[in-house]
Amino acid sequence: MPIASGATGTVTAMSNTHRQASDDTSADDAAFVARVEAFHAEHCVRIDDPAGSDAGSDDPDGLTAARSYQGALTDAGLAGLDLPNEYGGAGLTAHHQELFTRAAAAWHRPDSPLSISHGMCLPMLAQFGTHEQKSTHLPGVIRGTSIWCQMFSEPGAGSDVAGLSTRAVLDGDEWILDGQKVWTSGAHYCDHGLVVARTDPTLPKHQGLSMFIVDLRSSGVEIRPLVQISGAKGFNEVFFSDVRVPAANILGDVNQGWNLAVSMLMFERVSIGAGGGALNAKRHPELIQLARDLGRSNEPVIRQALAALHISEEIKGYIGQRIRSAVAAGRVPGPEGSIAKLTGALVARQARDTAMAIVGTAGQAFGRRGDGNELDQRATAGRKWSGFCVSAAGISLAGGTDEVQRNIIGERVLGLPREPDPFKGAPWQDIPRN
Ligand SMILES: Cc1cc2nc3c(=O)[nH]c(=O)nc-3n(C[C@H](O)[C@H](O)[C@H](O)COP(=O)(O)OP(=O)(O)OC[C@H]3O[C@@H](n4cnc5c(N)ncnc54)[C@H](O)[C@@H]3O)c2cc1C
Repeated sequence: MPIASGATGTVTAMSNTHRQASDDTSADDAAFVARVEAFHAEHCVRIDDPAGSDAGSDDPDGLTAARSYQGALTDAGLAGLDLPNEYGGAGLTAHHQELFTRAAAAWHRPDSPLSISHGMCLPMLAQFGTHEQKSTHLPGVIRGTSIWCQMFSEPGAGSDVAGLSTRAVLDGDEWILDGQKVWTSGAHYCDHGLVVARTDPTLPKHQGLSMFIVDLRSSGVEIRPLVQISGAKGFNEVFFSDVRVPAANILGDVNQGWNLAVSMLMFERVSIGAGGGALNAKRHPELIQLARDLGRSNEPVIRQALAALHISEEIKGYIGQRIRSAVAAGRVPGPEGSIAKLTGALVARQARDTAMAIVGTAGQAFGRRGDGNELDQRATAGRKWSGFCVSAAGISLAGGTDEVQRNIIGERVLGLPREPDPFKGAPWQDIPRN
């Protein structure tokens, strides 16, 4: 009896302790989520509010709005959630970040111009930066006063990014950078870029690369915007001519750039496929409202398309949640980042097709925002969604194409044979290229 009683007592005591702890945790979580909601109620509009829009990154108003949102978020102690206070973070945990991502998904957040800076560059700096690099740069990046971009792709190296040609040669305590990048999203408004360059051409292509923090206002950097089919100028060609980069600006070690590039690509894929923000916003609530507004919500084909989109977006949400939970538990995302990215690209195209089916021929009413013309409701919707229509395909390319993601899933998840590489192990300088 005493044993049973003691045992029961212990179990009861433990249960009470656990219940107390979990009640405390859920009370803390609820209080934190309430803070996130109160902040967004003050600064943003709800995702299903047609008055909300996600300004493009080439829109000066969009950039101002992003900086202002991020500044307010930082002042409220809700930015850089899992980063230490000494680097300008909120000193909380990855669990808080997950709570934030879920709660903030209900709002139009004007932070898309910061998506690469925060989704890819910031985690790289936090993970691989020296104390000095983190102290110097993280507070500004978190607050959005310093915006960073990712500089991998070149005219001769996109999917095969390890084949890139931009050179960095050490000269005393500086590296001299020469070469060209392309498709650099946001370079025209960014302060720094994370540049991958070749530091030893005698090594095999994956082994002679390094990653640099480059001040884009340095002498010898020329940024030329590229105009897209939508009329937007989201990305750029960037030329480096004898750009001097301090030796202290190397991220990680010399010739270890490929390992860093792989980490950054994984952050990119997780950010594209499983992050928060406009890119991963669910489109079906807005499209259901649009179908109602345009009097098409009773049409069976439209209803089926909306139901299918709803299902796909829910599945995509669960894939994202699974990855973010793994990250919150301290695991580094692996090839599941490719599954999330591929899903994100496929669902974006599904949303595009659903939107075009609802707006019908008004989807031809293509144009840029703010040209002052008065339009009826259908044409206004057509104009808005035609912009989404032409940009949706880009999600299949950015961060590695659908085909590349399928290769990764085939090799690393399904265990299929690797692609043959006749130049495996050869010095980069001996590999033929354009
Ligand atoms: C919206 C957008 C934003 C971008 N932002 C940035 C950025 O900020 N920074 C940056 O560095 N880059 C950026 N990029 C560039 C992007 O990473 C590249 O476009 C992408 O990696 C593909 O490279 P590529 O365009 O040179 O195509 P290629 O590599 O030349 O590929 C051409 C075609 O061949 C296929 N292919 C290539 N290799 C294989 C293979 N091994 N197996 C099967 N198929 C293959 C591809 O899938 C594609 O269909 C951006 C691109 C877009 C669309």
